Amino acid sequence: MSKKNCELIRDLLPLYADGVCSELSKKTVTEHLAECKECAAELDKMNRKITVEADKDISAIRKIKKRMRLVKVAAATIAAILVAAGLFAGYMWAITDCTMDYEKYNLAENVRVEKDSDDRLWLCIKGKAAAYSAFVWPTISDTDGNHFGTNQPFNKDKKAGRGYTLKMFRLAKLLPWEPNPYEERIEVKLNDDSPINYVFYYDDVTDTEYVLWKADN
Ligand SMILES: [Zn+2]
Repeated sequence: MSKKNCELIRDLLPLYADGVCSELSKKTVTEHLAECKECAAELDKMNRKITVEADKDISAIRKIKKRMRLVKVAAATIAAILVAAGLFAGYMWAITDCTMDYEKYNLAENVRVEKDSDDRLWLCIKGKAAAYSAFVWPTISDTDGNHFGTNQPFNKDKKAGRGYTLKMFRLAKLLPWEPNPYEERIEVKLNDDSPINYVFYYDDVTDTEYVLWKADN
């Protein structure tokens, strides 16, 4: 084979390697390669290069895919954490208790104290103030801004009197709810049954003490 023939074959080799040359060219190249080691070596080199490049592409694509998967997982995790944190913060906000304002909820008409024929005192609440099963609950209070659960020790300096504050969930301030048509009654007494001279409602929003009942003396 002449050098000139080799040149022609080398021109055809890329097409031959890709398998896109005509049948006649293919036959010519095949016959030449069988007899020419240099051209056969050239084809071999070309094939190896193509394979390496293809492998490089595949591994690059795999890397990108892997990275995209990691990004997706991270984004989903962050989104889930944010949603959970948001829900938790919202829940904590909603269940924070706050005072039922005396003026805003018209407590002058809805909260009173009554003494019955057995000399027992009763805190009587109605309307929105009496919806405590769901939203509002009475809390024993003193004017120092301290609130106690029912039946818990009361500030000794205030022992002559008994204070109440209606506490409600903050969420309840936003929600409309039906006033209770019935009057709820809670007995007013001190833990050691000592006499009570007056009962008051303490509104810590305005820091005001509203007297609900006073002994006659
Ligand atoms: Zn050749």
